[in-house]
Order: sequence, then structure tokens, then C-alpha cells
Amino acid sequence: MSETAPRGINPAIPHSARVYDYWLGGKDNFAADRDVAEQTMAAVPGIRESARDNRAFLGRAVQFLIDQGVRQFLDLGTGIPTQGNTHEVAQAAAPEARVVYVDNDPIVMTHARALLTSTPEGVTRYIEADIRRPRAILEHPDTRETLDFSRPIGLMMVAILMHVPDEDDPAALVRAFAAAVPPGSFLVLSHLTLDFLPEEHARRYLAATKDQAMRRTPRGRSEVAAYFDGLELAEPGLVSAPHWRDEPLFDDPPAWMYAGVGRKG
Ligand code: SAH
Repeated sequence: MSETAPRGINPAIPHSARVYDYWLGGKDNFAADRDVAEQTMAAVPGIRESARDNRAFLGRAVQFLIDQGVRQFLDLGTGIPTQGNTHEVAQAAAPEARVVYVDNDPIVMTHARALLTSTPEGVTRYIEADIRRPRAILEHPDTRETLDFSRPIGLMMVAILMHVPDEDDPAALVRAFAAAVPPGSFLVLSHLTLDFLPEEHARRYLAATKDQAMRRTPRGRSEVAAYFDGLELAEPGLVSAPHWRDEPLFDDPPAWMYAGVGRKG
């Protein structure tokens, strides 16, 4: 992408979608995003690999849900389209799968066409909205037309809640979405954590990110586990993302993310 920003986007303000895109090797980012990405990488090893591991977890979790019979997905915090988007993984296995994507970064909207390449049997929709307003998403006509709330839905909250600070009560948001879906639905969640890092790396991370314009809130095991309250955690439980039902992609896997999948009974 050239450094000219599409309308509605301030390229001087780093944004999580574009920082993540940079770590994944994408081109949809500006100098301010690259600065944040590079500063963080310089302070601590493994963050770029961690982004790839997180993305790989997303793909495995979608496949797991397909294997459990889920055919509908509400993907909260879509990110800039890259390889292995939710609908691609789902529809490769089940062409009739239906996906509603949601993100609040206008740059994702500029790529909406890439998200809307559904199979003829399935459906994909894209809504620009903020997950801090769950009702606006759950009651959106596109959501209601696309998803059947009497059948299981896969709620995807992959690498998004660390962008929701405590004052916006992320646990209440998860409860609001989980309450709207029927039994047999699943929550797929990953979350930034410092729990697995050597203390020195955790300290360096906090020092490097303290004054960044992009806020993230790493959380510990008990806080992340609490998002699954009332749900049954699928095997192997809440683990570091590269270890969720797979062998890590890297020899010395970076461990920055908790990952888990919970089923609503
Ligand atoms: N889920 C994808 C992308 C993660 S990047 C994956 O794991 O690969 C996080 C995404 O969440 C970004 O695209 C960012 O724009 C979006 N996001 C952050 N806060 C949000 C909010 N409050 N509402 C909606 N989307 C948000």
C-alpha cells in the first residue's frame, strides 16, 4: 500500500490491525504502525512468530468447530485479510458455512471484498462495528439474516480482548455474546499474556509498550480462564496457542498467547 491513507484512517495513529498485519508480513501498514511493531520486536524476541502461531491456532480452531458440526461463525476482530481467513478454512471443509465478520478498523473495510468471496453455497458478510457494543452487532440486520440463532454458532474472539481495557469490562462482553448463542455453540479465544515469559522479557515488553499510542492489556491465567466461565473447555484446556491441538510451528515456540475453546452446554 502507498503511504496515502484511505478516507477515515489517520495513518499517524498506530492501530492493532495494521501492527498485526506487519508482523504477519503484510503490506497494509503505515510508518506509525511499523514503529510500534519494530519497537516491540526489538525489546523482546518471538512476537512476530507469536502472531503467526496465533493465526495458525485460529485455523485449527475453525477446523475443530467444523468437525463438531458448527456451520456458522461470528468472527469478532477479523483483522486485515490474510491467508486462512475464517470463511476460507470453514468453507474448504463445509462449503455451506456462513460467516459474519466484525472489525472496527476502517482499513479492514477497504479489504471487505476479500472477505466476501464466499462459496455459492455459503455466505460471508462484513460489518464495521465495535465489539464493546454487542447489541449493535447481535441485532444488526446482516447478522440476523446470515446466522440462525437457533443453531450452534462459533464465536471467534481471537487476539481481540487484549485490545479491550479493564474499564470496558471484557468479561461482560464475552458474557453478552455467549448469552445470545444457543447450547452447542463454541467460544474460540486467544489472549496476550506475559505468564509464559521469562521475567526479564516481560519487564522489557512492559517498558517498550508503556508509552505506545496503541494500548494492549496482557492478562494472566485466572482472568483469561474466567472468560470461559459457564462453558466446558475442550481438550487440552487453556494452553499456550502453539500447543493447542498441535505441535508448535517453531522449535522454540514463543509463548505470548493463551488459547482455548469452550462449549456452551
Ligand atoms: N482475529 C484475527 C485478527 C486479530 S488482530 C486473528 O487472530 O488473526 C485484532 C483485530 O481486532 C484488529 O483487526 C482490530 O482492528 C480489531 N479490534 C480491536 N479492538 C476492536 C473493537 N473494540 N471492536 C472491533 N474490532 C476490534
